[in-house]
Amino acid sequence: MAAIINTCSTCQLALVRPLTLPCGYTCCTNCHRKYTACVSCDRTHTMTINPNVTLQAMQAVDVESKWDAILECAICCNRFNLPTTTPCGHTFCRNCLVRSLDHQHACPFCRDPLDVCPPPNQLLSAVIQQMFGEEASADGLEPSDDRIPLMVGSLAFPGVSCVIHVFEPRYRLMLRRVMQSGRRRFGLCLLKRKTERGYYTYGTMLELMHVQTLPDGRSIVEAVGSHRFHVVSAHLVDGYHLAEIERVDDLDREQQQMLEQQQILRASASRARSQQQSVESRPPMITARPRPSVPLSGPRPAMIHQRRSWAHQAHPQTAQVNRAPWLQMHVRGLSVARPKKQEQSPASLPLLTPSPTVRHREESGTDELIDDLVLFIRKLIRYKQSNPTSHWLAPLGDPPPLDRDVRDRVKLIWWISNLMPLSEEEKIPLLTFRTLRERVLLVTLWKDKFEDQWSLHLNTNNNNIPSASSSPDLCCIS
Ligand SMILES: [Zn+2]
Ligand SMILES: [Zn+2]
Ligand SMILES: [Zn+2]
Ligand SMILES: [Zn+2]
Repeated sequence: MAAIINTCSTCQLALVRPLTLPCGYTCCTNCHRKYTACVSCDRTHTMTINPNVTLQAMQAVDVESKWDAILECAICCNRFNLPTTTPCGHTFCRNCLVRSLDHQHACPFCRDPLDVCPPPNQLLSAVIQQMFGEEASADGLEPSDDRIPLMVGSLAFPGVSCVIHVFEPRYRLMLRRVMQSGRRRFGLCLLKRKTERGYYTYGTMLELMHVQTLPDGRSIVEAVGSHRFHVVSAHLVDGYHLAEIERVDDLDREQQQMLEQQQILRASASRARSQQQSVESRPPMITARPRPSVPLSGPRPAMIHQRRSWAHQAHPQTAQVNRAPWLQMHVRGLSVARPKKQEQSPASLPLLTPSPTVRHREESGTDELIDDLVLFIRKLIRYKQSNPTSHWLAPLGDPPPLDRDVRDRVKLIWWISNLMPLSEEEKIPLLTFRTLRERVLLVTLWKDKFEDQWSLHLNTNNNNIPSASSSPDLCCIS
């Protein structure tokens, strides 16, 4: 063993003032000075490299039984695991060094600047391998349990791809563990931005398709949502959450069809009842108008109430998210398109909104509602084609198949949900519903509102939809 650390493998002479180069190869100072290109990696290592402190200490003791204390990482106080030597000559476990670099780009011992973690030190790895056998190379980073690591940030939907920039130290660590475990998945939950601290307990599992780690430790992750989940319990590990989750799936097809029929019947019956009541209570002199007395802007009370109670029965803990009035659209373009108060005089309404404002969506079948959404998507696509510079429709991308006989209804609605120009917090209820119909109804409600305001603008401004140039900071379409 002593021969390994006392002989230079380049010149076969004494390993005097051993240098570990940034490629992980160790040679004597003389050899490094003699050859311009590295004999191991053929590159030229131009940076200043200091002698390997650990190897020098081992050479000074030269008794194997006393190396135990020298082969100890200053960060974790365990024997080196994948020993990695910095150009300043200090050695750490590779994982310890990488974690330290998440927080500051410097050697954890002497604070010399260090941007990139070098590969493991080949000589020290061989020494540990020979002295202690296999156990040294075992990497016990991933806590071995079935809990799912959570990233708390934004919103994702099943079947919809997304790109995530991982820069926070805790998530860099989480991502490395996820990749090392071979599972290549983590849960994404939305941060509660407006009101409280913490995060929404409904989230989406992300399957990592491609991870590009930049030299400074940040990563660009391309992922696609696989399924929804609900967090049952979670606790912090190294700054991020490990969660026990339960999968959230839709009810089976038969149950969904039964609920749909029930809802359609209930909605028609209740409309018939209220029409009857309004006919009876109306003074005889006023001409009957078919338009119900629901205001143009503002949620439809019956619908909102219905939806809230559904969600509340299924998931009482998240029912409060439904109370956010959906009108809090924060696309600037909509406020541009929104008419001024005085324009909303009753006389002008029929002209401005050719389609009836109240559409009795609960009475329509789910497929009809989806057809309606598809029409809306086609309109957007046409608009995008004639206004290629408007970047606010960039997320439209290539839509999934839209025709009734080939489309995947579930996938299509997630895709449309992702496109809707609303804040992520308003979209959270979508993750909690267990029927496609509930999601379709909510998205339709958003779409109707969007279209009302859009058509108002169309009719008042000679078919000019607000373009990106008139509202340059239209950037919240997620
Ligand atoms: Zn040498
Ligand atoms: Zn080299
Ligand atoms: Zn360590
Ligand atoms: Zn150092």
